[in-house]
Amino acid sequence: MNCKRCQSELPNLLLDAQAAPADVIAHVAGCPDCAAKLNQLRATMKTLDHWTAPAPSAYFDTRLYARLREEIAAPPEGFFERLRSRLLFNSNHHLRPLMAGALALVLIAGGGTYAGLDFYHPQQQESAAVNDLQILDKNAQAIDQMSVLLQDDDQNGGGAQAASQQMNP
Ligand SMILES: [Zn+2]
Repeated sequence: MNCKRCQSELPNLLLDAQAAPADVIAHVAGCPDCAAKLNQLRATMKTLDHWTAPAPSAYFDTRLYARLREEIAAPPEGFFERLRSRLLFNSNHHLRPLMAGALALVLIAGGGTYAGLDFYHPQQQESAAVNDLQILDKNAQAIDQMSVLLQDDDQNGGGAQAASQQMNP
């Protein structure tokens, strides 16, 4: 039995000395530190026995009933007011699955980003689309050049010369 475990058992010893474990009682009997803690707790409980809660103000009931009447007479709350009240003052047990789902989503998104698994790359998608368009553009240019070369071949018979002129005007 060490002092830390013994002191966690001290409230039980204080409230019901018979119900406390025997080793705790034995430790308190032999340990001055734990005995002092027990005496402090006893003194605190004795002080609380003499403490009486202050009486409420004479006008407390009157004001409370006046406020209740105001609340009853007030117009019904709108949708967002009711939602806010529910979120603030309810136990929100029914929202726990929703919150767990939202937290899981955050964890998946955060963990995926951390692990480099984010599949959503708007920048790369855009550059891939631009890349495709550039490839198509180059292909169109090449086809144009080929058709010009073929036409030149048909007309002049000097394909290489025409090609060099086409490439370096
Ligand atoms: Zn001790």
